[in-house]
Amino acid sequence: MTELPGIVITGAAGRMGRMLVQAVAESDKARLAGAVVRPGHAWIGQDIGTAMGGSALGVTVTSDLLEPMATARAVIDFTTPELSVEVAAIAAQARAVHVIGTTGFEPAHLEKIAAAARHAVVVRAGNMSLGVNLLTGLTRRVAAALGTDWDIEVVEAHHRHKVDAPSGTALMLGEAAAEGRGRTLGGLQDMERMQRRGARTEGSIGFSAIRGGDVVGEHDVIFASPGERVVLRHLATDRGIFARGALTAALWGQDRAPGEYDMMDVLGLD
Ligand code: NAD
Repeated sequence: MTELPGIVITGAAGRMGRMLVQAVAESDKARLAGAVVRPGHAWIGQDIGTAMGGSALGVTVTSDLLEPMATARAVIDFTTPELSVEVAAIAAQARAVHVIGTTGFEPAHLEKIAAAARHAVVVRAGNMSLGVNLLTGLTRRVAAALGTDWDIEVVEAHHRHKVDAPSGTALMLGEAAAEGRGRTLGGLQDMERMQRRGARTEGSIGFSAIRGGDVVGEHDVIFASPGERVVLRHLATDRGIFARGALTAALWGQDRAPGEYDMMDVLGLD
């Protein structure tokens, strides 16, 4: 019998990291090959299952990514842009699939990830859920169908710990709306409404972010014209949807040619 593909989870003690460990451990299509945490973390040396308060999973927590990558076929990484860039280089060397859920990248980070994707499969998406990726396709279509007299606003809400704003998902939705209008988001986005006085710029795509409590993730794309409004909405109530999407991406990537992919590719929605 061939062995199931081994998957390493970085940031295993994080909110998403724990969900990912659970998703891989429960899967009958993959095996957990490593659980990586920050240097100095209290879980290092313990079994990841026990550290998470459950039964042992047979994988010892480490802060050294190189060691578990030696036998892994994929790494799933929901951490920080700085760490994700380092993981991309290591995954490329190991020719392992790198699934990146991290958000908040600067252009310099993305260049390094693109360089790594010349040698290995990288699947990166600001949101790994089926629902949001469907919403992205719908947003593109609605924006294409409605003229520029329909104003577009993206409103998102997340838990109080989230550090980047607007969310990676909000940006993805804004990009889809801009694409629907045959434009790129760069020239249309408005994220500074509270810094100035004045009416809305025609054709712009506005962003607003709410932070509070334990909100998993909510996104509205509002199309507003004089007299009517269309609102496309996605509500995430369980982080498990992102973890399951990421696992699907890690398995999907196994037989692909090196390159950068997103969840629209994985879900066949493009
Ligand atoms: P979190 O802060 O709970 O987890 C991040 C983890 O990464 C922490 O445990 C931290 O210790 C660890 N980490 C940071 N630097 C490290 C290093 N050098 N070595 C090892 N571990 C390190 O955050 P979270 O809520 O789990 O979110 C993580 C990222 O995933 C964020 O960018 C968030 O926006 C994104 N996210 C994406 C999706 C998606 O579907 N794409 C869904 C949810 C969250």
